[in-house]
Amino acid sequence: MTNIREALLGPSYFYHRRLIERSKLWSAADIAKYHASRVDPLMKRYGDGVTTKDDYRRDLGHYTRYNLPVLAHTVRTGGTSGQPLRFSADTFARRQKERAYLFDIWSGIGYSPFDLRVRYGGDIHGDDLVQFQRMENVWSISPAATTESRLDELRSWIGTVPPFFLHIYPSSLYTFIDLIGEKLFRSLPVRGVMAASETFPAGQQLQFEADFGLRIAHWYGHSEYAVLAYYCRDCLGFHFYPTYGKLELLPSDTDGCERVVATSFNRIGTQFVRYETEDLAVRGAGKCGNNNFPRADAIMGRVQETFRDDVGRRRSLFGYVFGDLDHGTFWDQIQDLQFIQTAVGKLLVRLIINQGADKDSIEHTFTERIPMASLEFEYVASIERSRSGKRRYFLDLTSTTRHEIP
Ligand SMILES: [Zn+2]
Repeated sequence: MTNIREALLGPSYFYHRRLIERSKLWSAADIAKYHASRVDPLMKRYGDGVTTKDDYRRDLGHYTRYNLPVLAHTVRTGGTSGQPLRFSADTFARRQKERAYLFDIWSGIGYSPFDLRVRYGGDIHGDDLVQFQRMENVWSISPAATTESRLDELRSWIGTVPPFFLHIYPSSLYTFIDLIGEKLFRSLPVRGVMAASETFPAGQQLQFEADFGLRIAHWYGHSEYAVLAYYCRDCLGFHFYPTYGKLELLPSDTDGCERVVATSFNRIGTQFVRYETEDLAVRGAGKCGNNNFPRADAIMGRVQETFRDDVGRRRSLFGYVFGDLDHGTFWDQIQDLQFIQTAVGKLLVRLIINQGADKDSIEHTFTERIPMASLEFEYVASIERSRSGKRRYFLDLTSTTRHEIP
């Protein structure tokens, strides 16, 4: 690692690196003590009730500390599990802290800070197929640019990349292999795979690893940065970093599952207190010898959703629509949305928009991001729920088995 990069990691990175190493040796009582020291002041300030997205929508200022320019900035999350949410995040420490935990997770597949990554996804402006971020040492491939006519260009380019880690969403892993071809993929010097944000269907991760001889670093986190868990290859469950935030599992209406309720430990920006993440988890049974972190055997978070483009390829909807639109004011215009595959290569986008929203710009943004399907837009007052009461952000009317049609 060069000195410049070491300086770039920043003081919060090294603070959390040390905390992570220490916490791996903590007993359950040590973890409880640490949690009390972080959570007690928050309970004093905000009370001990469970909070929901609506609480932050109604009174963001109440939950936000030191919301000053430079120190904090506004983050807008895309809405996969409900309406988009905006909140304030620490400008400096959050990124450094995030890196400390992600690098720890990635070290499990042999990654050292700033090893070369190729990311399928990422925010690329303009028509470039790939872009290189020097400081991060990462190549980003623009999903929007991977149209049929440019796939040869992608294949020739990827063949020239020296050994790298592949960074994807679980739902885009097989899309990526399909785009460049399995034979070429198997010949590439891939050192390992990083897969975030979505849940792997049961068994898919292990099957991929055995089939391709590659290891996957997989983790659970969410855009509010309140809790983070890594997938453990020994107990095949998720370990929640106790120094990142506090996890609580509370009873739910779904059999065998509990609600993931999270408290964030950030001092600057919006503080999420006993926050309803809207994800469900199965409480970890037994013990794992690796450490005493709180555990879940499974997490029912965001499920994989793929749409079929104009030549019938399956592509990750999350990667195209939500993954990297967190920045800018785009989501401020949208209250809620749903994608419906009406035919192969055709998507109907149903939107509930806020007053003053610019329809042309919304349509332009989505059309630009998904050039390999034709989009139709419908502006509605409400989005109906499925029979089970769950709002789905994707419906596939061409498939009768995978989705419940409302
Ligand atoms: Zn484990």
